[in-house]
Amino acid sequence: MTEQTAKIESRCDGCGGTLVRQVNQFIHRNQLWWDAEFSCASCGDGGCEHSGPGQAPEDVRNALLAKHGPSRLCVVGQVSSLVSVMKVVREVSQVSLPRARELADELTDTGLVGTLAEMEFLKTRLRSRGVTAEVRSDVGAESRPIPS
Ligand SMILES: [Zn+2]
Repeated sequence: MTEQTAKIESRCDGCGGTLVRQVNQFIHRNQLWWDAEFSCASCGDGGCEHSGPGQAPEDVRNALLAKHGPSRLCVVGQVSSLVSVMKVVREVSQVSLPRARELADELTDTGLVGTLAEMEFLKTRLRSRGVTAEVRSDVGAESRPIPS
């Protein structure tokens, strides 16, 4: 199962201690999910902040990326038409058509970068439309082998 977790520390409003938010991103029921729970070791405050499907907010994504590093998703092999790739991109991220085109271009060129759960989710969606892609964690590598 693809799941990543990270901790974000902040100041507890109640007691001034250290409030720890544990955030998770994973794939659940064929959707991208994220959840967050917080707890303060000093005053015992805590609870569930969020649990549900959808794109994680930026602070959650940034914490996951900082801890685990980004993953890169590349479409491998020939793609008969970019349209199917664009459709998938729009299904998962509700971006504009021009932006979907840019993202589809990136996917078939250098690859798209995001969290592991996001890229695995996109990979699964692409596969359901007959597009093969693979996730790599070697972000930063200047070149990638082109499968023949
Ligand atoms: Zn506290």
